[in-house]
Amino acid sequence: MSDRYAALVNSRPGGALARRVGLPRPVVLERHRPGDPVIRGRVLLGGAPGGHLLEPLVAVLGEARCELAVGPGASSPEEERVRAIVAGAGLDATVFDGQAPGASSPEGERRLKALVFDASGIADSAELVALHAFFHDTVRRVERCGRVVVLGTPMRDCESVRERTAQRALEGFTRSLGKEIGGGSTVQLVLVGAGAEDAIASTLRFLLSPRSAYVSGQVIRIERPAVALPGPIDWERPLDGRVALVTGASRGIGEAIATTLARDGARVVGLDVPALSSELEAVAARLGGEAIALDVTAPETPAALAERFAGGLDVVVHNAGVTRDRTLAKMPAERWSELMDINLCSQERIDEALLAAGTVNEHGRIVCVSSMSGIAGNAGQTNYATSKAGVIGRVQALAPELAGRGATINAVAPGFIETQMTARMPIAIREAGRRMNSLAQGGLPIDVAETIAWFASPASGAVNGNVVRVCGQNLLGA
Ligand code: NAD
Repeated sequence: MSDRYAALVNSRPGGALARRVGLPRPVVLERHRPGDPVIRGRVLLGGAPGGHLLEPLVAVLGEARCELAVGPGASSPEEERVRAIVAGAGLDATVFDGQAPGASSPEGERRLKALVFDASGIADSAELVALHAFFHDTVRRVERCGRVVVLGTPMRDCESVRERTAQRALEGFTRSLGKEIGGGSTVQLVLVGAGAEDAIASTLRFLLSPRSAYVSGQVIRIERPAVALPGPIDWERPLDGRVALVTGASRGIGEAIATTLARDGARVVGLDVPALSSELEAVAARLGGEAIALDVTAPETPAALAERFAGGLDVVVHNAGVTRDRTLAKMPAERWSELMDINLCSQERIDEALLAAGTVNEHGRIVCVSSMSGIAGNAGQTNYATSKAGVIGRVQALAPELAGRGATINAVAPGFIETQMTARMPIAIREAGRRMNSLAQGGLPIDVAETIAWFASPASGAVNGNVVRVCGQNLLGA
C-alpha cells in the first residue's frame, strides 16, 4: 500500500505547498541495506558524573567502527572523562563544541548522526540537569534520521529512593524528546541491569542503525544473560547455521520476517494455512527454505511441529494473526473464539509442545507478534486487543523460565504497518493511523522484521521479556 500523501509532500511542488500551509512532511526514513555500516556519521558521546556504562559503550562503538565525537572538555570534568575513556580504548574522536562560534551553522562537519548519553550515574533528581547540559546544544545538530540513545539503570538495581526517582524520570525525558526531535530521528532509553554491561552490543547496534527506522520512544531492558553469549558474532549473518520457524510466512509481515531471518543466515521454515500453500512455497523457494502447510489451530499442529523439529530449533516467530473487528455488543461468540484461538491459544499450545519435547536449543529465541491495540486498546477490537495483550502476558510470564533454559522470549507490538491488513481499513481511519505518530507515517513490514531479527540474534541473550513497539512512537498508549 503506497503512502500517496508522503510522496506528494516530498515532491518539489507538494513540499512547497505543505510548508506554506503547515502540513506535516514525513521524512523518507533511511533503512538498512546489506553491507551498510552500523551508522553513517558522527556519534557524540556524553555522560553524567558517576556513570558506569561509558567503557562498555565505547568498546561496542569502537568494534562497530563508529565515527566518534566528544565534547571539548576544557571546563567539564565529565567531558574530560569521556575523552580519556575513548583515548584509553585506543580510539580517535573529533571534538564537537556546541557553543563554539558558528556551531549553529548548517555545515556538514558540525552535524551529528547520533547522541549517546550514559545517564546511569544520575542518582538524585537534582542531577537530572545533566540531561539539559548535554542535549541543549546538541539536539539541533542531529542529522535527518538521526539517533538518540540514553542509557540508565533499571529501578530494581537502584540503591535508594532518590536514585529510583531520578532513573524513572529518564522515561519522561526520552519519550518527550522523541516527540519533539523531528526529521525522522528516533530516541530510546536502554536500562542496563547489573551484570549486563558487556551484553549491550546487539541492542546498541540495532538502535543506532537504520534497522530501527520505525522504533522510537521505547524503553528497553537488558539483563544479565543466564548463559554466556556465544563467541565472536558475524554481524552480517548472525543466524548462520540456525533454524527458524515463522508462522503466517506467506505474505505481509510474516514474509518480511522470513526474508530478513534468511538474509541473516537462518534456514527458514515457513508455515501458513493450506489455502495459501502455493504463495508459501514461492516464499520458501525464494529463500532456499521449507514450507509447512498447516493451520496453527489444527489439533495435530503442536505435535507435528515438535516432531518436525526434533533435531532442534533456534528461533520461533509467532506471527500468524487475524483481525475480526466488531463492537463487543455486536460480536458473535464464534468471531471472538476463532480469533482468540489463532492469535493466542495456538501459540500457547505450540510453545508448550516444543518446550516439553526439548526442541528449543540453548540460545533459542521465541518472538511473538503482539500489537499496539494490545497496549492501548481499540474500539471494535475487544477480541483482538485481548489476544494481543495476552501475548504480552505470555512473554512476561515465560521470560524467567526461558532464561533458565538459556533462551529468551520477547514481543514486537507493531503500530500502523503498510500491509494488506491495513490496506483494507476505511480511508479516514487509515490516514489517522498513519499520521498519529512522531514520524507521521506508517511503518513497513521490514521494520517489524528487523526488530524481530534483533531479538532473534544469538547476541541478544540479555534481551528477555521485552515488548518493543514498532509504531513510530504512536500517540496512543504508553
Ligand atoms: P496478513 O493478514 O497479511 O498476514 C497474516 C498471515 O497469518 C497470513 O499469511 C495468514 O494466512 C496467516 N494466518 C492466519 N491465520 C492462520 C492460521 N490459523 N494458521 C496459520 N497461519 C495463519 O497480516 P499482517 O499485517 O502481515 O500481520 C502479521 C501479524 O502482525 C499479525 O499477528 C497481526 O496481528 C500483527 N500486526 C499487524 C499490524 C499491521 O499494521 N499490519 C499491526 C499490529 C500487529
